[in-house]
Amino acid sequence: MAVIKNLINGKWVESASGKTLNSINPANIDEVVGVVPASSRPDVDKAVEAARNAFEKWRLTPAPKRGEILFRAAELISKNKEELGRLVTREMGKVLPEGLGDVQEAIDMAYYMAGEGRRLSGETVPSELPFKDCKSVRVPIGVFALITPWNFPTAIPAWKLFPALISGNTVVFKPSSYTPVAATRLVELIVEAGIPEGVLNLIHGAGEEIGEYLATHPGIDGVSFTGSTAVGEKLAKLCGGLDKEISCEMGGKNPIIVMEDAKLDLAVEGAIWGGFGTTGQRCTAASRLIVHEKIHDKFLEMFISAAKGLKLGDGLKSDTKVGPVINESQMKKVLGYIEIGKKEGAKLTLGGSARTEGGLKKGYFIEPTIFTEVKPKMRVAQEEIFGPVVSIIKARDISDAINIANGIPYGLSSSIYAQDVNYTAIAERDLDAGIVYINAPTIGAEIQLPFGGTKKSGLGRKEAGGRGGALDMFTKWKVIYRDYSGRLQKAQIDKE
Ligand code: NAD
Repeated sequence: MAVIKNLINGKWVESASGKTLNSINPANIDEVVGVVPASSRPDVDKAVEAARNAFEKWRLTPAPKRGEILFRAAELISKNKEELGRLVTREMGKVLPEGLGDVQEAIDMAYYMAGEGRRLSGETVPSELPFKDCKSVRVPIGVFALITPWNFPTAIPAWKLFPALISGNTVVFKPSSYTPVAATRLVELIVEAGIPEGVLNLIHGAGEEIGEYLATHPGIDGVSFTGSTAVGEKLAKLCGGLDKEISCEMGGKNPIIVMEDAKLDLAVEGAIWGGFGTTGQRCTAASRLIVHEKIHDKFLEMFISAAKGLKLGDGLKSDTKVGPVINESQMKKVLGYIEIGKKEGAKLTLGGSARTEGGLKKGYFIEPTIFTEVKPKMRVAQEEIFGPVVSIIKARDISDAINIANGIPYGLSSSIYAQDVNYTAIAERDLDAGIVYINAPTIGAEIQLPFGGTKKSGLGRKEAGGRGGALDMFTKWKVIYRDYSGRLQKAQIDKE
């Protein structure tokens, strides 16, 4: 069992109150993975102060030098990938290949952002006046609060930490209180890579206790939040009123459309991975399958048969395909939605219960669950469940399928399986989501492109790499005009 501390101004310290929280293995609730500080407001104040004090020096550290630290962090995370991946699985529950994938995403982001240290480019453009030049440069925003969920214990923190740091911001990072140990291990490796004192501060605790206080703290200039829509929207309103930069990545209710000409084997395999991978606990999980009526019954038969083969269990066991859900309240929420689906008249075709037999009795296990005969406006087809529950909806044609896909409050990821290029072109054009996959499930984003959604899935700037990605979240543009004519020149007015 790990005993974890906060990191404030380069020192590992307990919370001011001395209170702690336990992090539990969701596959075996008798196993305490770590004990972490239950921080309160005075701890937040200290962390923010440390980040503020470190900002000036870090801002003036050349970005390629910042990049060298990130590069070393990438190397160290790679070296410790196996250990970190196992920790992710023990603390969060996802199966080990996914735990390792979570860490790989952090490695990819560290290398990618290390490289950005030698780019961070702006524009130079000609001036309309002689002896004058014009350019735009990216500058850091200041001190960022980074608030992350539990479902990607190292990847999502890395998506925020590395772009924030390469851009020259200092940060106070508050990971989910359900996955604090993996987050701390990631931070330890960044410290080992040489991040200066105060540049990266880590503070543990319950979101309700310190999250809002941190985000709205007068010493914080920007907030990058990933988590539920309810919390994100609340923080966005609060921060908007305080003139703070804020970006929120939030929930999803992502569709896979399966057209009548789709390769059914491929679509079934994708739908199983999209729907039940990570036990359905991905913001991009494929929780709705919109299936053309002509192949609906055949698809269903194949999908149910594949879902029956998914073994529930501890993610560290090599034959486990679906791990536990994260905690008791999530378990109650998912089971509650299964009851709602039944009451609404959806047909429970597979699963629907918690499982406690044999090796499952000490964890939060719910069997893969499939609802059929689902109507698009049912709550199980509209609301994020965040568990191993998939709803299947019939569609008449491509436009019906796209209307159903778009007819929800979310817009994060989406997918279509079809061979007809016209179907896929229409889907590309008309699906109202931040991400569209063709002949691939709704999960599997790569770090070199922006990531984020529309409607209730995302507010503000997007995450990750590429044009329009996280560098826009963590920098602001400054435009510089330099006049070396030695006289007053007037733009728009001078004739020669
Ligand atoms: P959550 O909103 O409960 O918590 C997210 C983070 O916010 C945690 O660190 C938590 O401690 C903190 N928090 C909780 N209440 C707070 C408050 N009042 N003020 C400030 N901070 C607070 O979400 P979760 O249960 O950890 O994660 C699951 C959710 O995250 C799902 O809705 C999922 O779709 C979403 N998610 C979205 C993305 C994305 O990129 N769009 C990625 C992963 C997860």
